[in-house]
Parts: sequence; structure tokens; C-alpha cells
Amino acid sequence: TGVYSSLIKLGAQHRVPTRPDLDTATFVLSQFPSPDCAESRVALIDSATGRRVTYAELRRSIRMLATGLYHGLGIRKGDAVFLLAPNSLLYPTICLAVLSIGAVLTTANPLNTQSEISKQVDDSGAKVAISAPEELHKLLQTGVPTLLTHRTCDENSLSIEELIDCSDPALELPPAQMSQSDTAAILYSSGTTGTSKGVILTHAKFIAMMTLLKWSVDITSSNNDVFLCFLPMFHVYGLAFFALGLLHSGTTTVVMPRFDFKAMLDAIQAYQVSNIPAVPPVILGLVKNSSSCDLSSLRRVGSGAAPLSKEVAEGFREKFPWVELRTGYGLTESCGAATYFVTDEQAKALAGSSGRLLPRFCAKVVDTETGLALPPNREGELWLKSPTVMKGYLGNAEATAATITSDGWLRTGDLCYFDEDGFLYIVDRIKELIKHNGYQVAPAELEAILLSHPSVLDAAVIPVEDEAAGQIPMAYVVRAAGSELTQQEVIQFVAGQVAPYKKVRKVGFINAIPRSTAGKILRKQLVLLSQQEVISR
Ligand code: AMP
Repeated sequence: TGVYSSLIKLGAQHRVPTRPDLDTATFVLSQFPSPDCAESRVALIDSATGRRVTYAELRRSIRMLATGLYHGLGIRKGDAVFLLAPNSLLYPTICLAVLSIGAVLTTANPLNTQSEISKQVDDSGAKVAISAPEELHKLLQTGVPTLLTHRTCDENSLSIEELIDCSDPALELPPAQMSQSDTAAILYSSGTTGTSKGVILTHAKFIAMMTLLKWSVDITSSNNDVFLCFLPMFHVYGLAFFALGLLHSGTTTVVMPRFDFKAMLDAIQAYQVSNIPAVPPVILGLVKNSSSCDLSSLRRVGSGAAPLSKEVAEGFREKFPWVELRTGYGLTESCGAATYFVTDEQAKALAGSSGRLLPRFCAKVVDTETGLALPPNREGELWLKSPTVMKGYLGNAEATAATITSDGWLRTGDLCYFDEDGFLYIVDRIKELIKHNGYQVAPAELEAILLSHPSVLDAAVIPVEDEAAGQIPMAYVVRAAGSELTQQEVIQFVAGQVAPYKKVRKVGFINAIPRSTAGKILRKQLVLLSQQEVISR
């Protein structure tokens, strides 16, 4: 039939709870260590200060914050709460408190600009925002009431910390009457084409993802694993894995506000970190720059969000022979991971592959011309079906219909093949998306900005491969007649309007942007052109 399914025999551990009224927060909290362990078991450690939060403290602060949000701020089921903050010990508390009262979480990269943030606040219909103090200025013009994450000297602003401290534990929280099919989060992704869209993920999707992750990543608190989290909790990888999934497994996580290579090495040594879910640029960094450090505590490093080259994987194994390196593949639209290496032997033998389908996933490799499902070793677009696939894009029926087929297949926009043993190889991206250091950059967004420049007649943005960052955005620009616009001016013009990771880093001038008869930019032609230009230089 051309359908690949997970080769893992389903067991009790893969059973996704089906109780219709179960919500994500209840599910996570139900798996916390028992009360006698919870008082001493450490859930989270702040990498910089060493501050620790036990599972018992975490449970209390989630409950207090939920009470504060409900009674103090009047947040109710279905209200969207916009969260703009770097990772912190408070991040998981905020997520779980919001989810526990049936409100909908929408998270954003704190590096985003004011206009990027306003767009998301508008699109998600956020009723309240929660912001790190240093990002507050980006929310002022939205007019949405905003709470700070942390206390400041400003007496006029209320913070989450204060809300946790001041809530009345005696106040009742009426049951939110939730169902698994209610929306839990709206995360933003550009999908296969166009600009950022709200990916609707219900409680059922997170509950399924956490059940599958716990088993496939083999996370149990009895392993005494210490995880290090620098992956952003605003992204599905960090949210499903760290802010929710690991807590659901009762392990300890050292939290870094953001990625910093030196701080990462210090944290590994200081806290005897054993597990690091990471992205390819970090793995490359470890191969190249960590010689003077004692990383003997490491047991497993994961790689996802972008392709990990065979050379880097082999370099890593050579340098750290005692560490397992496991790759996985996933996307926001599938609520995180879809494939993973379950054993190190397989991962070692098949560098370049992203592992096998997780339990309860099916896949098809579809010929992009004929639409037919292809046999092993033939390249086509990866289609996925699983209990974690998004409900659709918020308020965008057209994009939803273009992405999820009427019989429930998610078109990933990734070019791939499966080998005969069911191992997935991602070959290329058919969709427009560019990934810089694992972050999404949507060409359509940069093209709209370029076209607003008076000297730009037409423009197209494509990915250019880059060893350190994976890819960088390059712009091809058609200048208006007589214009002497320079490459540097183009770069600066865009940089002034986007988050730093979205900057155009290379510019080429061209007479005309190649387009199909339907007006679609022929990006592959431009990618080839950029490669030829490099060769002929
Ligand atoms: P995001 O929604 O930000 O997680 O981005 C998802 C996209 O990242 C996928 O559709 C792929 O294009 C890319 N991606 C994720 N994991 C991998 C991987 N292991 N290898 C290659 N590309 C990946």
C-alpha cells in the first residue's frame, strides 16, 4: 500500500490515555513523584544561580499561579495567554498553570521584534500577555494587559512571582470542564509556504506526544539522569520535551535562559549533566571546541530540528566514544518528534538517518509529480499520520487544507526516503522554510520586507548552506532602474525590521526573479545559481 508504519510492537507503555476529559496539566501532574519523594526530588535547577525547585514546590507554585490567573486576573477556559520570555525556572510553572485552567498557551521567541510580536498577539487573539521584564516594551503598543514574569522595582507592574506568592491557597478552583479535543497551545510555524501561522495543538496531541516520548527516549527518574535545557521552551521541541515532557517523567533538568557555548560547558561539569537534547550547530561546537573540558558525565546527546551531517556525527562519536548520539526528526505541525533512534547501535551504523517512526506513526513517501506512494529507497515528500498531528492552522482553512489531506495525512514539505528497514533519511526541503541554528525563517516574510524598499523591484529569499548555522538566508534582488542600492544596504534594511536570527546574510543582484507561469518563485533555480556563483568565484 506504500504506507510505512512504526515497526515497534505496541505495548502497554505506548497506550495513549483516552479519557476524554483529561487535560495536559492534569496528565503531567498525575505523573509527578509521590508526595514523600516530591519534597526532595529536584525538578529544575537554574544553571546560573544553582537555585533548585523540587517537585513539591513546583506543584504548589502551579496551583497558586492557576488560582491567581483565575481569580485575580479573570482568565477563563479558551482565553489565549501570550508568553514572551526566555527559559527560566518559572517557564514550566507558567505553561502548566495556564493549561490547568483551560486557557490556551501561545509562545514566542523573545528575540522577535515589536511588529512580529504584535502580529502574533493579534492573530492568536491573546487576552493577556506574560513577558520577561526586558521584553515588556515590545508589548506596550498591543494594548494587551501584561504581567511580568519576574519582580522589578516598578510598583505599577504585577509579576508572576508576586501572583504565586500572594494567591490565596484557600480559594477554590472550579473544574475547567476540559476535553482532550480542546486547544492547549497555538505555536507559530510557516509550514510549507508563506508566513507564520498558528499551529493548533490540542491537549490530546501533547498527551500523546509525552506518552510516546517518555517511552522512546527511555526517560525514567530512576536513571538519575540530569538533563540540560538550553533549547527554547517557546519552540515545540523545548515545550513538549522540557517544559512538559520531562516533568511528566520525574527527572531533573538544569535550565539555561538561552544557549551560550561556554555556559553550557560549565553547566555540564558543575551539575554532572548526563543528557543534552540539542541541535546540529551545538554538536558541531562540541566536536570543535570542547577539548579542555571534562565531559565524562555525558551519557546521551540528541540532535533534532535540522539535519545533522554524517561527518559531524562521526566526528562526535570519535571524540566522545562513551556518549550515545541519537538523531530524531519532527516538526511543530506534528507536535514535535516523529522519528527517533531507539538504540545507539542503529544510530551508530546509520549516520545520516533520522531513525524510525515513533509508535503510532504512519508515513507515506509521495511522488511530488504523480502523487503516488513510493516504495523504499525512492525519494518523495514525507507524509505523516499520528495522534499528534495538529488540528490545523488558526483561522486559515486554506493553508490547513493545503497541508492536511482530507484523509488526515500531514504533508511535511520534506524530501525523504525510507530504507528497507524503515529508517528515514531526510534529503532536502521542498518547502520554502529556511532553518538558521534550528530556528524557522520564512522567506515570504523577508520578501515582503524587501519589496517595501523603494529601490527593490522584485526579490526572492533562499537558503544557503552554512557549516555552523545549518543554513543562512540569502536574498536575490532586482533593483529599480537607476538604483545603486548596495548589498550592505539591503542587509541593513532587513536587519532593522526582523529578529537577529532572520537577518538576510548574503545578497545577490539579478535582472529578473525566475517565476513559474503561475507566478511562483522558482527557488530551486536560484539555489543552483547561488551554488554556481560560489564555484565560479
Ligand atoms: P520546526 O517546525 O521549527 O520544528 O521545523 C520543522 C522542520 O525542521 C522539518 O520540517 C524539517 O524541515 C526540519 N527538520 C527537523 N528535524 C530534522 C532532521 N532531523 N533532519 C533534517 N531536517 C529536520
